[in-house]
Amino acid sequence: MHSVETDSDVYKTLLESTKAIPWRIDWKTMTFSYIGPQIESLLGWAQDSWVGVNDWVERMHPDDRDYVVEFCVSQSRAGVDHEADYRALTRNGEYVWIRDVVHVVRKDGEVEALVGFMFDISERKKTEEHLIRLQKQLEEYSFQDGLTGIANRRMFDTVLEREWTSAQRSGAPLSVIVLDIDYFKQYNDHYGHIKGDECLRRVARTLSLAANRPRDFIARIGGEEFVWLLPETDAESARLVANKCLHLIRQQQIPHEFSVVSPLLSLSLGVGTTHATPHTTALAFVEQVDKLLYQAKRNGRMRAAFTDFRD
Ligand code: GH3
Ligand code: MG
Ligand code: MG
Repeated sequence: MHSVETDSDVYKTLLESTKAIPWRIDWKTMTFSYIGPQIESLLGWAQDSWVGVNDWVERMHPDDRDYVVEFCVSQSRAGVDHEADYRALTRNGEYVWIRDVVHVVRKDGEVEALVGFMFDISERKKTEEHLIRLQKQLEEYSFQDGLTGIANRRMFDTVLEREWTSAQRSGAPLSVIVLDIDYFKQYNDHYGHIKGDECLRRVARTLSLAANRPRDFIARIGGEEFVWLLPETDAESARLVANKCLHLIRQQQIPHEFSVVSPLLSLSLGVGTTHATPHTTALAFVEQVDKLLYQAKRNGRMRAAFTDFRD
């Protein structure tokens, strides 16, 4: 004799043998009318402990709870199928990443029930988190400024140390130009950050053209601050490069209606030249050039301040 298998038996077997966990919530009473027995092996909570929608809410990570519940309730009310990722609490106090895929069942225009599947996505989340960590690390180790594509501060520090040692050995002069955009805060505030970023890329591109000996080196060392490192360059040649920077930026005619000093975007520069000795440090030198930059700012901006530091 064959046992008689009804359609619903077939469906039940199918549902309960998948890895995804099926469930059904009655909308009016906000209670589970069904949840697959697989839930117990995933989270540890017994099948019959899932009674009301609160059992679902309370077994969710507190950081996910508010936005997930709000999102699911509003989508359901609107009759829109949706999915949500959240961390579900296990019986032994750990969390498992779940993706809940929800279908809203409507009858005569009214929401009648929610049916869905829970998927265990912890492995996928682990991979995702790992990738994000890797990306952050890569950025940290990178020598390139993500926004403008020129060298970043880290690269500048490395190259500066190398050139400083080389200048100490050779006795050749070393020049540094620190450049800072005038009233860039106002630029951002009025034109917006996207335009601000665009402007920074343009300034980086333009400044890169101001010097071209093989060891001349430009970097973006801060938000709107750039630096030219010019090995084997005396004060006279550094002055030429500085003036070229001012000229090239002026030539770009980038409107800056909110600058106090000019209707076009402008820069201030500190320009220093030194002879590195065994007793001087690169850091102290750059700090001196930085002071020149602030002198240029104080003197009215849109200009360079020069000094030849000789010992
Ligand atoms: P000053 O003439 O004295 O240099 O004035 P400032 O407004 O240029 O200088 P401040 O240092 O006060 O402001 C720099 C502003 O540069 C702050 C911020 O709005 C902007 N900024 C810094 N980094 C970025 C960036 O990566 N992108 C954009 N869009 N703006 C930036
Ligand atoms: Mg600045
Ligand atoms: Mg500035």
